[in-house]
Amino acid sequence: MDWVSEPCVATKTIRVGGGATFTQLVQKLSGSGLALQNVPALPQFTVAGAVATGTHGSSGVDPVTGKAKLGSQASQVISIEMVVADGSIMEFSRKQHGGVDGEFEGTVVSMGCLGVVVSLTLELVPDFIVRQRVYVQWPHPAPSWSYRAIIDNFEELLTSCDSFSAFVDWPTQQAGMLVLRDFVEPRSAPLEAMLLPQEWHGGHLITEPLPPLLSAVDNAKPFRTTSQGPWHDVLFWYMEDLEAFGPQAPEELQFEWFVPLAAARPALEVVAETARGWAGLALYCELRAVRRDDLWLSPSTVDGCDSLAIAFGFDKHQEARAIAAAGSLEKQLGQFHARPHWGKLTSLSPIALRDLYGPALVKFKALCKKYDPPGKFRNRWANRFIFGEA
Ligand SMILES: Cc1cc2nc3c(=O)[nH]c(=O)nc-3n(C[C@H](O)[C@H](O)[C@H](O)COP(=O)(O)OP(=O)(O)OC[C@H]3O[C@@H](n4cnc5c(N)ncnc54)[C@H](O)[C@@H]3O)c2cc1C
Repeated sequence: MDWVSEPCVATKTIRVGGGATFTQLVQKLSGSGLALQNVPALPQFTVAGAVATGTHGSSGVDPVTGKAKLGSQASQVISIEMVVADGSIMEFSRKQHGGVDGEFEGTVVSMGCLGVVVSLTLELVPDFIVRQRVYVQWPHPAPSWSYRAIIDNFEELLTSCDSFSAFVDWPTQQAGMLVLRDFVEPRSAPLEAMLLPQEWHGGHLITEPLPPLLSAVDNAKPFRTTSQGPWHDVLFWYMEDLEAFGPQAPEELQFEWFVPLAAARPALEVVAETARGWAGLALYCELRAVRRDDLWLSPSTVDGCDSLAIAFGFDKHQEARAIAAAGSLEKQLGQFHARPHWGKLTSLSPIALRDLYGPALVKFKALCKKYDPPGKFRNRWANRFIFGEA
């Protein structure tokens, strides 16, 4: 199932098999004049796996509308084809099966519970390049670049780019790194011709590449800092030919929560307070934004709104401490109706998940029963978290 069709220039779409990776998709798009709107950090994910879990990249916010510009991978799907329990192939398209009475919105983020996805059709955009600015504290160690720079200027951060990633070291209370990306036309002026702000509220613009972010992985590529290049070269942070290594990176335990973007500041204050004692435990924390969508189980649409994604990687060798720490933060973030990432760890109970998703989860369960009456595609995880069974 790891095939990718030729992109259709007229409709700006592409069809990919249920086992195809982003690497294969990018190869097919090369030279077509078309691009994916946005991507997650790793190109070796399968497109179907990313879509099924609501995986996402990041977004900025339109200063005029106040809305996030870019949605998750799942929000780019316009039709989905799957083999359901009785062996038949069903096609669900946004156009024909979408909307209030339709089922399309229930089939996209489905964690494999409805059937085997054999193909997905994605919408594309005209090719673009990414102009990326990276701000760090170093090489100027003092005065330290506090995380307050991120929280206090959060609205400015959101509206000053098309996509951002902010890394905060909560235990040392420092803003580790801020990545601001603008999506520009392929023939835009080279970076050297741009007058880039050398400072962002205490952070310094850096142009030298940094050591690979996934240091435990062989062949991980150095992290490119301030630079400009094709969308897939800049947006994917790791080597395109890197081997897949499963849902968790080798040395970390990943947790991620989505809170309403409008509640970003108070939610970050809670994170700052809770994560203060996590020195040596939290390997990193990345903040990103995601546009809302209408998919029933979209984790990144919280209370119907755009969200702030708060991702933590914890030291795998301190599992018990990591799980307890993440659990305490997850509990605190409950006041913002925080939703966990479907492809990462959570300590939430099935009852808490049921309350978070409300009628959408009820509709999804009914859809599963319709297309998979005998429960062929259910496993222990689905029985517990989707169907609420012990
Ligand atoms: C280092 C690292 C970085 C990450 N970065 C990000 C990031 O930037 N953004 C983000 O949101 N998440 C991120 N994640 C989480 C990641 O997106 C999820 O783990 C995602 O599921 C990985 O895709 P996969 O191809 O490994 O899917 P898998 O783990 O293989 O599958 C995920 C789910 O999709 C279902 N599925 C897969 N293929 C099919 C199919 N053909 N038919 C039906 N169901 C199917 C599976 O049953 C499973 O439930 C990261 C994880 C790691 C380890």
